[in-house]
Amino acid sequence: MADQWKAHCLLVAYPAQGHINPMLQFCKRLEFHKVKATLVTTRSFWRTVATELPSDSNISIETISDGYDEGVEEEARKNSKIYLQRFWQVGFQSLSELIEKLSGKGCPVDCVIYDSFLHWAVDVAKKFGLVGAAFFTQTCAVNCIYFHLHQGILKLPITESKILFPGVTELEPSDLPTFLYLQYGMHPHYWDLLVDPFNNIGKADWVLSNSVYELEPEVVDWMKKMWPVRTIGPTVPSMFLDKRIPNDNDYGISMFKPSNDLCMNWLKDKPKASIVYVSFGSLASYSDEQMQELAWGLIDANSYFLWVVRESEEAKLPGNILETLSKKGLIVRWCPQLKVLAHEAVGCFITHCGWNSTLEALSLGVPMIGVPYWSDQTTNLKHIVDVWKVGLRAPVDEKGILKRETVKHCIKEVMESEKGKEMKNRAIKWMNLIKNSVDEGGSSDKNIAEFVARISQQ
Ligand code: UDP
Repeated sequence: MADQWKAHCLLVAYPAQGHINPMLQFCKRLEFHKVKATLVTTRSFWRTVATELPSDSNISIETISDGYDEGVEEEARKNSKIYLQRFWQVGFQSLSELIEKLSGKGCPVDCVIYDSFLHWAVDVAKKFGLVGAAFFTQTCAVNCIYFHLHQGILKLPITESKILFPGVTELEPSDLPTFLYLQYGMHPHYWDLLVDPFNNIGKADWVLSNSVYELEPEVVDWMKKMWPVRTIGPTVPSMFLDKRIPNDNDYGISMFKPSNDLCMNWLKDKPKASIVYVSFGSLASYSDEQMQELAWGLIDANSYFLWVVRESEEAKLPGNILETLSKKGLIVRWCPQLKVLAHEAVGCFITHCGWNSTLEALSLGVPMIGVPYWSDQTTNLKHIVDVWKVGLRAPVDEKGILKRETVKHCIKEVMESEKGKEMKNRAIKWMNLIKNSVDEGGSSDKNIAEFVARISQQ
């Protein structure tokens, strides 16, 4: 290994936008701390993404097999049980071969940092006598909930009206991750990803979390009693936070092509805090009725808006709505979300509450209106509304539809009311706390420095 590196980490990412972004950013933080970082993802995923890493970056990219090197077949794309079974069968061997290959090339690995979804990777690390670090891309509160389920302490179906976990704010059943209540029984194979990581977490030498200590101190302290947990987030590009990593102003790996110039030019001449930014991440897919209600709500609210409607969702908005929408809004298939959130023209963010989007909005001081779609998004929303108090829950009707008048009401409340001003002030407070956490001597910075010091000694 080149003399300038203290150690070499393999960072094995789960193949999804919301999982590759945090891993890639953690690579950049490690490199800043003089650790060689190699990002690993699957060949099938790598074929589908565009990469734009800074020219001065030393991050290497390697791929492993998920059993679908030529592309994920239709059947496996539609049924993640099939996909995961095959991935789990071939992934272990493929990752082992990669570690051997790198060692043979004079670039031996010291530590395997693996997405908690890929929990078998700790056994690969141990087979080679390497340090193994689990990397969680969700909050510690959500980890705590799944751990209680794994231990059989949380029993399903849920019958209580209030649920208490150590260090977590009191939850109602609908605040739990959707797979445990609102969508209970609908996605049983996601247990492999969300609950099984706790089968072998005891083998991990480190448990890293893309969260911030100050956001959820009680539950982090509780988890630390069991495992060597360290919060290292937010994994947001440094130029939006501490600005210590030169040229780190974007994630650099994207499944979709962002309309950069179009969005930034459109935002340029809009008044301060006048725009509603609407985006539901890379996976959420709402019904036609929901998309149309949202569209009419945006039109009725009469604010400017920038709405990300992925290509796969476009047909849900008929031509007459699109025409009316275009009077005050811009609709794009994908945008540079961080740059948009950081723009002073943006006044609020209608979001599905994916953890990356939530952390980005918190890091940039933008109040939110939450429309969770699935998974941990309901639990994130509970924290946005009742713990961090930087957003509103957009209530749905008995059919689960967020109606146009509610959309309008929520936008007015965040953008124009006294309550909205208070939310904005709190959002700024959290933004500053979060920026400090990754800056020199902050909680996440200290945790990363400790991790690096320890793996460098091994
Ligand atoms: N994102 C983006 N442009 C968009 C929409 C989303 O760059 O138009 C990014 C966003 O910044 C975030 C990620 O995609 O980093 C979405 O992750 P999240 O966890 O919020 O949601 P998921 O896609 O996993 O549901």
